Amino acid sequence: MVALLSVEEAQQRLLSAFHPLDVENLDLIHAAGRVLAGPVQSTFDIPSFDNSSMDGFAVRSSDVVQAHPDRGVQLMVVADIPAGNNPQVVLHAGQAARIMTGAPIPEGADAVVPVEQTDFSDRNPDLEAPKKVRIFHPVAAGAYIRPRGQDVHPGEAFLQGGFRLRPQEIGFLAMLGIAQVSVYRLPRVAVFSTGDELVPLDRPLTPGKIYDSNSLTLVALIKKYGGMPVNLGIIPDRLPAIKSGLEEALAQNVDLILSSAGVSVGAFDFVRQAVETEGHLDFWRVNMRPGKPVVFGSYRNIPYIGLPGNPVSAFVAFEVFVRLAIQKMSGSGMMPRPVQRVRLTQPIDSDGRQSYLRAIASNAGGEWSARLTGHQGSGNMRSLVQANALLLVPSGVKSLPIGAELDAWLFDLDG
Ligand code: AMP
Ligand code: MG
Repeated sequence: MVALLSVEEAQQRLLSAFHPLDVENLDLIHAAGRVLAGPVQSTFDIPSFDNSSMDGFAVRSSDVVQAHPDRGVQLMVVADIPAGNNPQVVLHAGQAARIMTGAPIPEGADAVVPVEQTDFSDRNPDLEAPKKVRIFHPVAAGAYIRPRGQDVHPGEAFLQGGFRLRPQEIGFLAMLGIAQVSVYRLPRVAVFSTGDELVPLDRPLTPGKIYDSNSLTLVALIKKYGGMPVNLGIIPDRLPAIKSGLEEALAQNVDLILSSAGVSVGAFDFVRQAVETEGHLDFWRVNMRPGKPVVFGSYRNIPYIGLPGNPVSAFVAFEVFVRLAIQKMSGSGMMPRPVQRVRLTQPIDSDGRQSYLRAIASNAGGEWSARLTGHQGSGNMRSLVQANALLLVPSGVKSLPIGAELDAWLFDLDG
């Protein structure tokens, strides 16, 4: 029998078998959520020209030094500059130009006076510009101007490889005219369930049978963490069926094969035999609860992870192990989870293994507290559904009193 591994040792061993996948070029419209493969540089300034941040009048600030609410300074309006226009005008002393938000600042002007500080406060662009305008407030040079290069200069690498593109980066890349980006390929992950008790959702339940829920949970988790699931459904625990399931996974070019159930040493015989014809398989007993038995190996050089069958164990083992493997293949650095320190509102018993307990964590006036949700059995999905957090009870801890502090993974913060 294999020695008991700590969660960290098991994670390290597992991760050493995974590598960032290859890279592909993707249109920006499809790149959200993908991980950049290298730095991205801008080729021009953002903003690319000095422009107005307000609807108003472009002026020479020295002309309106004397402006006052009771005593406006009158300027001649010599141009009307809507957004999208490329003004040819040069402002001389005593002159102004009506200007809209985003429009280029004309030469000679060094500030914008918002319409509200003039006697022409109607911002309707269909209305013809006045011949003259009265300015009621002085403005500092540079006021309401977004200067060229304020955000980005050409050659500046503003995003690094390994970064997962969020909606805001997609928009920023578009601002820079970058229509395609080089990103890591999505990890393709095959999922199958084994067990004679399992029935797919499109069949009626008969006595002694249960629905195959794990493959659905796992498919959803794979998507959540940025993988592409390939669902192979239920595979009967017989050698030829498992062999052809594994071959099907390979035919679908997967980067990882995931199964649930039957991971105790004896029960897994056919999966073991099938995998070992073209690979190897190790049974890991990990010092954790739930999710202790995990199987790790490879079939024809494709990594294979066998998760426990109990639905909560499969979920937790995915969160603890498979998530890391998917992240590494995706090219993103290990993303630490948001962890919240919480105070127990009830005593807790543990068995000395590192435990992941289903809980509701809540924040009252900045103080985080947590209580367990219902049955904590590894088959009780209800309490996982009720939970918004997993409490992390460290290994070696057997009991904790009310008021003890613990780390918790908050589900709602990580999506
Ligand atoms: P095993 O790992 O095969 O001993 O299964 C442990 C428990 O998980 C048993 O109660 C199984 O019925 C249950 N189980 C196994 N696979 C699934 C699955 N795909 N969906 C839901 N429950 C499962
Ligand atoms: Mg079974």
